[in-house]
Amino acid sequence: MVTPADIAKTTTRYNFHSHTQWCDGHASIEEMTQAAIKAGMEHWGFSPHSPVPIKSSCNMAAECADEYINEVKRLQQAYGDRINLYTSMEIDYLGNEWGASHEYFQTMPLDYRISSVHFIKSPRDGMIDIDGRPENFATKMARHFDCDIRGVVERFYEESCRMIEAGGFDIIGHFDKIRFNATSYSPGIDSEGWYRSLVDNLISLIINSGITVEINTKAYDKSGVLFPSQELLPRLIAASVPIVVNSDAHYPDKVNAGREAALKLLNSHPQHQ
Ligand SMILES: [Zn+2]
Ligand SMILES: [Zn+2]
Repeated sequence: MVTPADIAKTTTRYNFHSHTQWCDGHASIEEMTQAAIKAGMEHWGFSPHSPVPIKSSCNMAAECADEYINEVKRLQQAYGDRINLYTSMEIDYLGNEWGASHEYFQTMPLDYRISSVHFIKSPRDGMIDIDGRPENFATKMARHFDCDIRGVVERFYEESCRMIEAGGFDIIGHFDKIRFNATSYSPGIDSEGWYRSLVDNLISLIINSGITVEINTKAYDKSGVLFPSQELLPRLIAASVPIVVNSDAHYPDKVNAGREAALKLLNSHPQHQ
């Protein structure tokens, strides 16, 4: 087992959230390893989108899990003198039926676990991936959710709260990511009182859980946004929530994307250690 937040106290040359061809990433584990070494990383975690019991082209198939873990081990042998590689997963929380707390993931030999909400249950069409691009999100809102943006946002934060209560993971993935698509769909929605109280409530649970928060920089280069949004950081820092900065890279040339800006922001808060 590895504690990402402890490693982050010793160096900034780490990243604990990345994807490869084992899910929806665009390079092999070895290519990402080489890119991470080239970028000066000392610690690198692979976090494929976990197997899920529903149809999803973005997630790893369950029958690949052992092979994936062995491939990281093989590369740790080959590159271990230059970098520490870790086996993780970004585990989808799908409600009571599926998540990091389940025995399947608890008995899987992972170094640490990330847990995220990417799927929201449509009233009639099952679990829908709401994490993609804004233009696809708008189509899905019409097709699966009757354009009820408030309902989708509420479900996202409710599921995130249940995910924390269920536990079984170390890092909560991009905990306000719905903001990106929700504000594209309905600008200003994140400053409405009901929205803010959903976020406040989730942060309270995070603070009491001891779970590590990531500042996810995946969209920073293109859109200038971080997850969570930067105005939420002071409360997290004041409450001494463990924080790591992750690039969520899907390409070798993105291993370090946005990380420097996020690290700078984090270190600009005097209370952050
Ligand atoms: Zn994610
Ligand atoms: Zn990810």
